[in-house]
Amino acid sequence: MALFDKFSRLAAARRDLAGYGVNPFGVEVERVLSATEGEIAGRRTILAGTNNYLGLSFDPECIAAARAALLAEGTGTTGSRMANGTFTGHLALERELAEFYRRRAAIVFSTGYLANLGILSSLTAPGDVLLVDADCHASIYDGGRMSGAQVIRFRHNQPEDLRKRLLRLGERAADAVIVVEGLYSMLGDRAPLAALAEVKRECGGYLVVDEAHSLGVAGEHGRGVAEEAGVEADVDFVIGTFSKSLGATGGFCVSDRPELDVIRYASRPYIFTASPSPSVVASTRAALGILRRRPELRRRLWDNAGRLYHGLEALGFRLGPEPSPVVAVLLETKAQALAFWAGLIERGVYVNLMIPPATPNGTSLVRCSVSAAHEPEQIDALCAAFAELRGIAATPGHRACGADLAVASAKTSRGGG
Ligand code: PMP
Repeated sequence: MALFDKFSRLAAARRDLAGYGVNPFGVEVERVLSATEGEIAGRRTILAGTNNYLGLSFDPECIAAARAALLAEGTGTTGSRMANGTFTGHLALERELAEFYRRRAAIVFSTGYLANLGILSSLTAPGDVLLVDADCHASIYDGGRMSGAQVIRFRHNQPEDLRKRLLRLGERAADAVIVVEGLYSMLGDRAPLAALAEVKRECGGYLVVDEAHSLGVAGEHGRGVAEEAGVEADVDFVIGTFSKSLGATGGFCVSDRPELDVIRYASRPYIFTASPSPSVVASTRAALGILRRRPELRRRLWDNAGRLYHGLEALGFRLGPEPSPVVAVLLETKAQALAFWAGLIERGVYVNLMIPPATPNGTSLVRCSVSAAHEPEQIDALCAAFAELRGIAATPGHRACGADLAVASAKTSRGGG
């Protein structure tokens, strides 16, 4: 195969999409109007596919903090934390994250993707074992690949399957690393963390939970699904991102393990990339403060999530298993999902199109993410737009557009965010 032949399938899939006018995998938001509204294809559009769970991307306090840091410290750190890029803000953010999670220490990474890559690739090495939930994010699988450890998938949200695989490992189970997410971003379902923690206690191993979609969303204090399930003591490493509820970019890991600080110096995705910009660190610190001080944002988020989930349920749509800020509408075929997505864009609603191989079990879906900043009227407008498109969901034979949206370059299971 010639060097560029591998792209031909992807190129054909992209040509198929051209007929729809807007490319679902590269939507241009021409103007950002607020945390919940933008202009797409010249149309005022409700943004319901941004994971901006607490709506903090336009929070005045976060913007003021970012602006002050920009003026005081400049646009970028221009270097890696180890060489020349550790600023006071990075250390303060690490202290604040550790304190929020009531853990001994934290490491801040430049993105959530790099946090998974950095922790998993340095925690495990060839000869070690990672047991990963089948629906985990691509960054978790990529971390496993980078480490050279043996990666064993277990069935999504099935603690019994995990137990079986741990038992098969015999003595090696004691040092196995189990990785799950708190809230899964495709279907909005939670990990059964109480049962998973019990399996870990019984069979051994270390537990890593990626709370990317549950920080600020689940748990009484917003620490995530482990807090909600009352099993934080069983979690050895919590990983998360600043790119969702905190409205910025960056990632982190917190832990009580004394080795965490040494892991920092073994982690190539920490060492060999520039550290987060001062303005990003400042807005993230402000957002973390708001997350802690204003639990009412979490309540609003869940009110909105329930309103959308039950609204769509009443319209007869097939949804993910439980109400959550990620509301997935399951469709029969890729073509249906694409037609649905395009119909929503025409009606001024932006959600995410998710199709295989980025989705679990070959499912095609459109995924909404709800924000605390959505007004109830916006949620009702989303439901009304979905109602108008019900015909598409009701016709499984909807004409296939031939788009094999393989997103073939995604070499691991999941890429969706
Ligand atoms: N983990 C999970 C579970 C995610 O869904 C994502 C992003 N979608 C990431 C990690 C990566 O986060 P970031 O966007 O900060 O790189």
